[in-house]
Amino acid sequence: MKMPMIRSRVPGLIWPGLPGPYGDAHLALLWQLERSQWWRADVLHAHQLRQLAVVLAHAAKNVPFYRAKLAGMDLAACATSEGWAGLPILTRSDIQAAGAQLRAEAIPREHGRFHEIQTSGSTGKPIRAFGSDITSFFWNVLTLRGHLWHKHDFSGKLASIRVFDEGVGSPPKGMSVPAWGHATDVAWITGPGALLNLATASVSQQAEWLQREAPDYLLTHPSNLAALVREMGPRPAVLPNLREVWTIAESLDANVRRFVEEEWQLRVVDTYSSRECGYLATQCPMSDHYHVHSESVLVEVLDDAGQPVKPGEVGRVLISTLHNYATPLLRYEIGDYAEVGAPCPCGRGLPTLSRIVGRQRNMLTLPDGEKRWPRCGYDQFMDIVPVRQLRLVQRSLHTIDAEIVTERPLTESESAALVGIIHEALGHPFEIRLDYVAEIPRGPGGKFEEFLSAIDRASESTET
Ligand SMILES: [Zn+2]
Repeated sequence: MKMPMIRSRVPGLIWPGLPGPYGDAHLALLWQLERSQWWRADVLHAHQLRQLAVVLAHAAKNVPFYRAKLAGMDLAACATSEGWAGLPILTRSDIQAAGAQLRAEAIPREHGRFHEIQTSGSTGKPIRAFGSDITSFFWNVLTLRGHLWHKHDFSGKLASIRVFDEGVGSPPKGMSVPAWGHATDVAWITGPGALLNLATASVSQQAEWLQREAPDYLLTHPSNLAALVREMGPRPAVLPNLREVWTIAESLDANVRRFVEEEWQLRVVDTYSSRECGYLATQCPMSDHYHVHSESVLVEVLDDAGQPVKPGEVGRVLISTLHNYATPLLRYEIGDYAEVGAPCPCGRGLPTLSRIVGRQRNMLTLPDGEKRWPRCGYDQFMDIVPVRQLRLVQRSLHTIDAEIVTERPLTESESAALVGIIHEALGHPFEIRLDYVAEIPRGPGGKFEEFLSAIDRASESTET
């Protein structure tokens, strides 16, 4: 691995580099994170509570919503291991109903400017919140933490296929940029970047573009990655320079991970983030677990009774932001479900999540009312059945609509094979109705969901 180099901004000074005030602060925070990641979980938690005590006091004083909500509560007692669960949960509908009441009337000058964060609202009304220069700063530094964990060679080329603003990175050419992006530019020298807009580039256009660009690293959505691997075939015939793929924005199913890692013989690294809460977790360099960025967020995973789940169990995710003074989000039920992991063999004290399983609307309901997370990653079966795209929509307790995009109608035996695959994945012989469609468009934010429940829309999700 080549050592990453500092982008010095002091004339006449190349090494050691001084990247200027913003970059200096970036390195100072990174230096702390390099140490705190190894702290014991209880020590990290104690520091989180110290910080949350200050956030609570700010919220109670400066944010109208919390001024009302926290009135009369003993805030010092809330910011303890025992007291924290006494704080009310903040739901998505609370945020929508609160509107401007959740915006702080004042923040310390040093936190910089406010900026608005709007989630796309994949199925429902989007939510509005605000961030500050400090929240952006943490986003950048945590991006760097991920690069350093995974020992990225900063001299390589990074290709990003994701949703950009209209007109940015349009196919077939995409857009060339001199460096990887803002998070690295603040203090580091990197190789070039290349952008292609997922909203407008077809899979075959992406494949041609990638072969022209020949990147060292690729960043894209898991569903798009699986489609690319199917389109392009196995390595090393294609993309000989590619060393690693980063996935963002959607849940990465274990099947998709396995499929891509086997076909392309490289590592897939997944990240978990949200627009309103920032970077939440990044996959460990030594395992498939995600380490929570505890220096930026407190993550709780709770069962239906509101109790923390044990390692190996799935529960709903609650986020508390440690540094967002513009819209403090405290015990915010983000709409995701995740499985809590055991302490990681790498030795980091940062707590782990072993899976981020998705949203309530991605949950299957069996006829007896039992709910479970269906197996996804149908791409691996698409060689058996000539299907280009597949999405399952559950509309009742007994039937599933399978929306399919094919070159031609399936034969009887192909239909039977597809139904068999779906039955096995769902673990129940639902009545499967094949619905031939011309295209299954991506949802807001470019997300593709392979399984959608139209039965339970009680909990709507946010952006990741
Ligand atoms: Zn680890």
